[in-house]
Amino acid sequence: MPLVNTKKMFEKAIDGGFAIGAFNVNNMEIIQGIMEAVASEKAPVILQISKGAREYANIRYLKALIDTAVAEYPDIPIAVHCDHGDTVDLCKECVSDGYTSVMIDGSHHSFDENVRLTKAVAEFSHAQDPYVSVEAELGQLGGIEEDVVGADDYEENIEKYLTDPEQAAEFWKASKCDSLAVAIGTSHGAFKFKKEPKLAFNRIEQIMKTCPGLPLVMHGSSSVPKEFVDKVNTFAVIDNSKPELIAAFAKAGVNWEQMPKSMGVPEDQISKACQQYAVCKVNIDTDIRLGLTASILEVWANDNIKVFEWLKAGGKGTQPAFNFDPRKYLGPARKAVKEMVARKLHVLGAAGKAGLCS
Ligand SMILES: [Zn+2]
Repeated sequence: MPLVNTKKMFEKAIDGGFAIGAFNVNNMEIIQGIMEAVASEKAPVILQISKGAREYANIRYLKALIDTAVAEYPDIPIAVHCDHGDTVDLCKECVSDGYTSVMIDGSHHSFDENVRLTKAVAEFSHAQDPYVSVEAELGQLGGIEEDVVGADDYEENIEKYLTDPEQAAEFWKASKCDSLAVAIGTSHGAFKFKKEPKLAFNRIEQIMKTCPGLPLVMHGSSSVPKEFVDKVNTFAVIDNSKPELIAAFAKAGVNWEQMPKSMGVPEDQISKACQQYAVCKVNIDTDIRLGLTASILEVWANDNIKVFEWLKAGGKGTQPAFNFDPRKYLGPARKAVKEMVARKLHVLGAAGKAGLCS
């Protein structure tokens, strides 16, 4: 199946009470992990590429990987989406690179400027054959994602940053966007909240009233699951069972936890937003990073522990090998991506929905 835009995916997702997972891709192992998961769960997928990923990997390499995914998995509907395009030119470049969907994020500009940018991208993208979908953003999220930085007082004064339902209707009509990323209490990155967040379901409801049929998108929707944070905290220190090492960190004023106070959006709230509301695209980036990194740290920590044990036992015989072969840690990392994506597809209700969207 050739790449698809997001039109049919979103129609089916709104009707069926599920959401499409939009997973950020940066390299081969991440794309492979995502594709293995969506294939085994029979789910449609949006592969999204940020401006940073375009620069990091070189879009030609990513394109070749995506073309390979399309050929390898002919039964899976795949859309390729530009995540947080910040200029009209970048969106146009993405369209000419073959993306089937683009986001123009004018949320940090004035309302009028946001409309102007989005309208320009929509006019260009909609005139393509085949049609390219356009996502816009209105309202502001907290947290940090690449060069998108949220307000400092986001959590304390969240109401003032949420998407205004009347403005959303005016924006949709004027800009002709196909879907809208709304601020409904989510936040970018792994350090989203100080206390457990509650999504603003009443605000989503109001937006659905003023914008009937408009597909809504949730950014900043990783859950930062505690078991993976614990893994990072456990394995990021060479041997955290060594009290003197922890004491040395403490003495230097450093919390030996690598990821203290990280908190995301609870998965049951995300499921509720997908099942009961018009949320039909959910962006997941942080959780993939977390699963992947925890896995690599675990491989290395286990290697180190083997060496420690060998030394403690007198260091006789051959020293246990350290896995500096990238395949030895990127292989498990790819599997960790697959497991995380599969978990998310169930949270979003997207498992088993590939046939419906093709
Ligand atoms: Zn985002």
